[in-house]
Amino acid sequence: MSQSIDFSFEFFPPKTPQGQEKLKVVRDQLAAMNPAFFSVTYGAGGSTQERTIQTVLEMREAGINTAPHLSCVGSSKESLRELLNFYIVKGINRIVALRGDLPSGMGSAGELRYANELVEFIRAETGDHFHLEVAAYPETHPQASNFEADLLNFKRKIDAGANSAITQYFFNPDAYFYFVERCQKLGITAPIIPGIMPITNYSNLARFSDACGAEIPRWVRKQLESYGDDSASIRQFGEEVITRLCEQLIAGGAPSLHFYTMNQAEPNIAICKNLGF
Ligand code: FAD
Repeated sequence: MSQSIDFSFEFFPPKTPQGQEKLKVVRDQLAAMNPAFFSVTYGAGGSTQERTIQTVLEMREAGINTAPHLSCVGSSKESLRELLNFYIVKGINRIVALRGDLPSGMGSAGELRYANELVEFIRAETGDHFHLEVAAYPETHPQASNFEADLLNFKRKIDAGANSAITQYFFNPDAYFYFVERCQKLGITAPIIPGIMPITNYSNLARFSDACGAEIPRWVRKQLESYGDDSASIRQFGEEVITRLCEQLIAGGAPSLHFYTMNQAEPNIAICKNLGF
């Protein structure tokens, strides 16, 4: 099957110089697939922020369209302003704007409490310079009291000036379709791009999914559990499950796909090839 929708890739900033070198290889392999853009995550609370900036600048110097993630929790308006101006000077024109999560015991919440306040701040400071993406949660953000409250909080971000959204990853396409339908009923027309998590390792995926509120369907969990340490079978099954999910999303009208690459080339390339990208 050959597809013609856009797709994008997300990295996290590597911790070591070796990781940084390895990422350059992965980046070039994925760049050859012609994605719309790459994004690089940003750790709330300080520790990894310099590495995000360094990774973004290296990618930019390599001529790759890259969007830094930017979180407001734990940051002052002054430090956010400085970083925004720095990105403008460096030719960055897309940002993924988030509240973030402060690691426990690390500092105070900062001057902006929620991502809608960050979007408002970026628009007030920099006008329409940046294309702003925000986060969306088809299966509901773990701290939200309920689906409806979370939906209205998502709308605040769009109303504040976000151009589009990327979702937390999910494995049940109905959760995405229902969320999009409810957004449309609220008059939201901004594209809502599914976040896609390739499956390569069961224990990491299970831990991650618990923390961010993504549900692994029982049939997927049981199958993955049964493979134990057989990583080849996990990858093969994971590739099938995620390819099928992407096909359903595309058939149902998803505007684009955003891959949480986990800084790996192969699983993402395999899925993209299956989709005819
Ligand atoms: P918000 O939209 O502010 O929502 C946070 C919670 O507060 C929700 O429960 C919401 O319902 C509620 N809420 C929102 N606005 C209000 C309001 N005005 N009043 C009352 N309640 C409100 N984390 C990182 O640290 N670095 C990253 O780079 C990063 N990248 C991500 C990329 C994507 C695509 C996604 C989906 C998540 C990412 N995260 C990242 C995780 C994210 O930071 C966490 O999920 C965080 O807990 C919420 O961030 P948010 O921007 O969605 O927050």
